[in-house]
Amino acid sequence: MGTKYVFVTGGVVSSLGKGIFASSLGLLLKSGGLRVSMMKLDPYLNIDPGTMSPYQHGEVYVTEDGAETDLDLGHYERWIDENLTKESSLTSGKVYMSVMDKERRGDYLGACIQVIPHVTDEIKMRIREAARVQKADVIICEIGGTVGDIESLPFLEAIREMRLEEGLGSTLFVHNTLVPYLRSAEETKTKPTQHSVKELLSLGIQPDAIVLRTEVPLTESQLRKISLFCNVPPEGVFTALDEKVVYDLPVHLHEQGLESYVLRRLGLPERESDLSSWKEWIGSFKERKGKVRIALVGKYVELKDAYLSVKSALVHAGARLGRNVEIDWIKSSALTDENCRSLLGEADGILVPGGFGERGSEGKKVAIRYARENGIPFLGICFGMQLAIIEFAQHVLGWEDADSAEFDPHCSRPVIDLLRGQYDGIELGGTMRLGNYPCLTKEGSLARKLYGKERIEERHRHRYEFNSRYREDFEKAGLSFSGINPDSGLVEIIELPGHPYFVASQFHPEFTSRPLRPNPLFLGFIEAAMKRRG
Ligand code: GLN
Repeated sequence: MGTKYVFVTGGVVSSLGKGIFASSLGLLLKSGGLRVSMMKLDPYLNIDPGTMSPYQHGEVYVTEDGAETDLDLGHYERWIDENLTKESSLTSGKVYMSVMDKERRGDYLGACIQVIPHVTDEIKMRIREAARVQKADVIICEIGGTVGDIESLPFLEAIREMRLEEGLGSTLFVHNTLVPYLRSAEETKTKPTQHSVKELLSLGIQPDAIVLRTEVPLTESQLRKISLFCNVPPEGVFTALDEKVVYDLPVHLHEQGLESYVLRRLGLPERESDLSSWKEWIGSFKERKGKVRIALVGKYVELKDAYLSVKSALVHAGARLGRNVEIDWIKSSALTDENCRSLLGEADGILVPGGFGERGSEGKKVAIRYARENGIPFLGICFGMQLAIIEFAQHVLGWEDADSAEFDPHCSRPVIDLLRGQYDGIELGGTMRLGNYPCLTKEGSLARKLYGKERIEERHRHRYEFNSRYREDFEKAGLSFSGINPDSGLVEIIELPGHPYFVASQFHPEFTSRPLRPNPLFLGFIEAAMKRRG
């Protein structure tokens, strides 16, 4: 069987939940036994979101092979439970960069380089490459942005051409739109959907299926109207009602026959979808009783998307342990020694996530010290581990001058430092320690107990490291280095024996947490927080 391509577009407005729809479809097709892969095509000109501010982009998700990607890849991985690769994330920046490199190398010698065919050929080649590398039966490609944007035109042209080249039975266009509800008229409106489909048609794309995001159920006659005006058979029109529990969406789409319609259109045999494990997850999510309060101390707490995977990992661990994890979002720059008791006093656990730059780092150290001295469960991630080291150096070892070279490159005691020679004069984009690295957990440590094995692999995204020159001093003062990279000797996990739960990792455990497989460090953290709550 050749690869089948499903292209997911969006119209009317952004933030429709296209990524969640695409993930739901992936889940449904996978649950029927197909090998599913997913891909996000982003029209912006950055090479990747790695250098973009969280205000622009929310979280940067990191794949195991070290690509810095759109946060939708996190949804995909969590929902379809597959590890994706760098091929799953394509931006206009990457496409143009590659075309320009080829032009300079002389690959197109003699040709005048144009959007069509050179840019569109590059896009098609990258989509096929992603399917090939990931050995997909079906690859679901979500086109970022909204139909009608100038930026996304080359992507839409490329997928139109793919239908011509791959054939009708190997490609499927699914268009997501919004059906707004006008409260004053007490009516839903289908006109924006009709216009959006018209816009797609003007680009040569006739959708095969339409997914209607709506806050109220749509009537049969409205669905028929959309089918008729949009030239999509009635069984290809689906409703994505605002869900109280977002995880219910795949089940509701299944009840509407989504995957059997998609299989039929792709010429694939009908399959029985086995949704039992997804339903098990929904069950544990809905059955949560009681709560546990976690203070998340970060720089961008007003932007919850900046910590999307951390939030998800907390939910996974909470659901496994039957608790509702409530997050207190604490702005690090507002936290001081004076107010920490009132701001953190109610927390059952304190989490300091990844971050960059000095702003707000004092407040994070205040939170870490408060957790350390008061026996409050603490989980530090990446920057959170680095600050835990600095806090320990300053207040336990009494090294007032201990700091990170990130804040002061000439600091006299850089307990967090750049590896010598590694980054001299290097550019900012894509040059961090990225993706999976191995780590050996120390026998008898909490890390070993939680992971249940010696060798683990987790994902990284940072430039700075613990400066191993100071290791002995810390150990003498009671800090344990319980996870070490076997190849480089770099410190990956620290913990404080005797404390109810004081664990921090240089890697990002949130990226590997899945609904039915919560990450061990999060599980241990929530368990400890529950104990504290009593
Ligand atoms: N800023 C730190 C570094 O680059 C930590 C990065 C992070 O938390 N992701 O090492």
